[in-house]
Amino acid sequence: MKKFVFTLLLVLAGQQCFCWGFFGHKKINYLAVFLLPPDMMHFYKDNIQFLSDHAVDPDMRRYAIPEEGPRHYIDIDHYGTYPYNELPHNYDSAVAKFSEDTVLAYGIVPWWVQTMLWRLTSAFKEKNQAKILKLSAEIGHYIADAHVPLHASHNHNGQFTNQNGIHGFWESRVPELLADKEFDFWIAKAEHIKNPGQFIWARVLESAAAADTVLRFEKELTQSFPSDLKYSFENRNGITTKVYSTSFTTAYNNKLLGMVERRMQQSIFAIASFWYTAWVNAGQPDLKTLTNKEFTSEELKEFEELNTTWKKGKIVGREHE
Ligand SMILES: [Zn+2]
Repeated sequence: MKKFVFTLLLVLAGQQCFCWGFFGHKKINYLAVFLLPPDMMHFYKDNIQFLSDHAVDPDMRRYAIPEEGPRHYIDIDHYGTYPYNELPHNYDSAVAKFSEDTVLAYGIVPWWVQTMLWRLTSAFKEKNQAKILKLSAEIGHYIADAHVPLHASHNHNGQFTNQNGIHGFWESRVPELLADKEFDFWIAKAEHIKNPGQFIWARVLESAAAADTVLRFEKELTQSFPSDLKYSFENRNGITTKVYSTSFTTAYNNKLLGMVERRMQQSIFAIASFWYTAWVNAGQPDLKTLTNKEFTSEELKEFEELNTTWKKGKIVGREHE
């Protein structure tokens, strides 16, 4: 019996470790809607629940297909030292230099965001409502992931420095505990991005530059914090789960001087700006006269299957938590 409870606990704890957590991704997509210009905001507001709920579909897809994993991160420090000039920002050039296997193994998030932008722009040109919504929700996920420092580091869960769990700590525990209470989400309106590739690479490089601080501050704080107060236990869905304590989480957030809040704000601004850019580049179609308003039976089936495989709880390919 003991073993059974322990296994269950591990499974659940594993499921809660998502990029930005379910809470963060949903909130980020939700808030991005309010930064849009009036011509877009009406349509996006009408569908805000979908955009928020489906912000986590790409994470669920990691349980269904192995190709999904690398779209969420880039272990950029594999390619030398900051600012990683060895790595071409053009995908074909990167593949030619390092091989496709290597590029895929170390993650492709900055390129995948650009692929998604191209797809979303096409969906706007087609005036296909179902596609616009699905792609808007999903590009939001990848953009937000690109803003997370540990999504741009090979030591993504502190596994090489004895800091296992730090991934979920920074991106899930801190926002879950503090975003609603303390974070400010008063953010500038969406802007048209002239060079989306340059934009997302700049964000990834900021993430990479911040990864060291994310890891080092947790280590320093652990050394100065009473060890019996670092963790606490919370009841989650009827299961007692070990979590970073409120006092340790608050102290870490203070030490980071608002980094998590800032990266959330920048994610929200970037997502609204990518949505806006896709719409402008598609020729600003009238969103009151869209077609394909209903999801096809295949799309509905995919939503259903994502849920089912995710609930089974086994990631295919590499875990990134
Ligand atoms: Zn993700």
